[in-house]
Amino acid sequence: MILILLGPPGAGKGTQSQRLEKQYGLKQISTGDMLRAEVARQSDIGVQAKTLMESGQLVPDQMIIDIIARRITDKDCENGFILDGFPRTIQQAQSLDALFESQGKAIDHVIELTVDDDAMVKRISGRYTCAKCGEGYHDEFLKPEKDGVCNHCGSTDFTRRSDDNAETVKSRLQEYHQKTAPISDYYKTEGVLRTVDGMAPIDKVTEEMSGILG
Ligand code: AMP
Repeated sequence: MILILLGPPGAGKGTQSQRLEKQYGLKQISTGDMLRAEVARQSDIGVQAKTLMESGQLVPDQMIIDIIARRITDKDCENGFILDGFPRTIQQAQSLDALFESQGKAIDHVIELTVDDDAMVKRISGRYTCAKCGEGYHDEFLKPEKDGVCNHCGSTDFTRRSDDNAETVKSRLQEYHQKTAPISDYYKTEGVLRTVDGMAPIDKVTEEMSGILG
């Protein structure tokens, strides 16, 4: 199964991907995570991407398309994957269609999580992840069962993204409305788009998504 998750920053794409990954045996491919890994190891791509990411802007289309083209041919993607954070522009969506066509793949589902701007800011500013396994949490909405201990791996080490601050969030939202939101219409025209209310409680969102995926 190939699933594309659309939605603004803070809509819950990462959280839901992690759940669906376990439930359906799909591989989550987060372009944001991949870029952060490149930044951390100071690769050429990482050096180019760092400033753009820190200012909340998108990285160039071709850079991200090349990354995806390589990643989806990896063995762990054989049983299907979830694209989380890609595509983010019409050009990326078109390139993905061309790529899938050349590889004999097809999109099964595109699900868009809708969230209003105020909620997004609140969600983004309170979120953090386990530094060891990447499980996502939130100061208010999704606390670990035991304070300061990851539910998933037991680690006590947590991290926050440097671009999850009020100033950068503004430009990320602007980029989203200008460049990413039009993708919904692109997939609507292709007849594969379904919309889920991302403001609903996390379990309810997962339930609705599972209903779509079957
Ligand atoms: P995310 O973790 O998905 O919120 O992505 C963090 C940052 O990585 C974004 O603000 C962009 O700078 C960059 N990024 C991630 N995915 C893409 C993409 N598909 N196209 C362009 N930039 C991206």
